[in-house]
Amino acid sequence: MVTMSEARLREKYPYIRRVFFPRWDRKGEWRIKLCDRIGMNGPGRTDGLCEHKSKTIFVSREHDPKELDLVLIHEIAHAVTRGGHGERWVARMEKAARRAEQIGRSELAEAIRREVAAPTLTEDDVYDEVREFVDSHPKESLKAAVSFVAFRYGRTDDEFLAWYPRLREVYEEVQGEH
Ligand SMILES: [Zn+2]
Repeated sequence: MVTMSEARLREKYPYIRRVFFPRWDRKGEWRIKLCDRIGMNGPGRTDGLCEHKSKTIFVSREHDPKELDLVLIHEIAHAVTRGGHGERWVARMEKAARRAEQIGRSELAEAIRREVAAPTLTEDDVYDEVREFVDSHPKESLKAAVSFVAFRYGRTDDEFLAWYPRLREVYEEVQGEH
């Protein structure tokens, strides 16, 4: 597989920001990093990761450079919304798809919509969705939170608990804030 180069990322990141997310991060607080592997336990691709805490977007070196625009849009849409692949992320992705159509990039628009229909699942996304669920339903149990998110991905609770080892920790962390 062709690997991503630093130069390509340096060129694409400002382009994607300017065209698809012109109002985001005006202060330039977010950074982008190319990394060798993005660790995760569950299944799925690991092309990118958005870390709100450090305001960093990680992009894996190990993916098709042709998909870079999509990966950047997917991750920046996480940076501007919260709650994994929930409603707000879906709406922001749809907005990006419409923008792609406007500028004549209909293939990219289609790719964005395919991504929304079957989103890439990263560990970070799962924790984010659980975090948001617990935040808005603080009385629900850990089991209820896990079931809610696992169901959205057509998985069992046990699979999720095995794949995402920090679920309990994330749950307790949010509970502690209430
Ligand atoms: Zn995601």
